[in-house]
Amino acid sequence: MATQAIGAPGPVISAIGLEKTYRTGAVAVQALAGVSVDVEAGEFVSVSGPSGSGKSTFLHLLGCLDRPTGGRYTLEGREVQALTSREPARVRRERLGFVFQSFNLLARSSALGNVELPLLYAGVGDAERRRRAAAALTAVELEPRLEHRPSELSGGEQQRVAIARALVNDPAVLLADEPTGNLDSRSGAAVLGILRQLNRERGLTVVLVTHDPRIAAAAPRQLLFRDGRLIADSRRAGPARAGRAGTAEEVSR
Ligand code: ADP
Ligand code: MG
Repeated sequence: MATQAIGAPGPVISAIGLEKTYRTGAVAVQALAGVSVDVEAGEFVSVSGPSGSGKSTFLHLLGCLDRPTGGRYTLEGREVQALTSREPARVRRERLGFVFQSFNLLARSSALGNVELPLLYAGVGDAERRRRAAAALTAVELEPRLEHRPSELSGGEQQRVAIARALVNDPAVLLADEPTGNLDSRSGAAVLGILRQLNRERGLTVVLVTHDPRIAAAAPRQLLFRDGRLIADSRRAGPARAGRAGTAEEVSR
């Protein structure tokens, strides 16, 4: 098995008729009502829509944090439903990076210590761990803060540490759920700027959930959810991806 699809043709994310119904006692809530979408490697996609429209549910399914109740989801060519019990955890650890609204940093560890953690779990040795964590923190422009603890960092800086932690395993996709939700607009813009830069310069694939229309509009591709359905999928004209005609990026705004 193990259709090793890294670098293979085809979308990195492929959802076909994805459904999720939550059952609490006798009550069933259909959070996702059949969402079909492909995301290619190197894309930057925002997911927006009103509260309760299914954005987080969708991201959880993409992140193998939960299983769909209907439809199909393929990540890098792997049929996620076919994974056995422990494999989703491995896929999450090795192929996905997560950033949430709350930064979830260890208070007693430095920025470096926090970013080293996924590498520690992956069994990477001391020197290599430190080198890679420092490089990830440099990529989010935090090299002057390596030894700072979370309490010594601003909210925006803490979120950048969380982004570095999500990146340090070199994931195929970065999944972010309201990453600017706890930040003032300036720090939020800085965090968004870092994600855009990582996407442009390293080809990092990003799926960003936000209820903020201005943040959503900054993405080259925008998905809009309502009542568990994908109701719009729009792209800004732009040079974001190779092979596509490069026209002025701001034209459609
Ligand atoms: P969004 O992120 O767009 O605000 P969610 O995906 O969190 O929306 O939620 C979509 C719908 O599913 C909402 O009606 C919500 O109440 C419901 N829901 C989300 N998570 C659960 C859960 N674990 N159990 C039951 N219902 C849930
Ligand atoms: Mg949500």
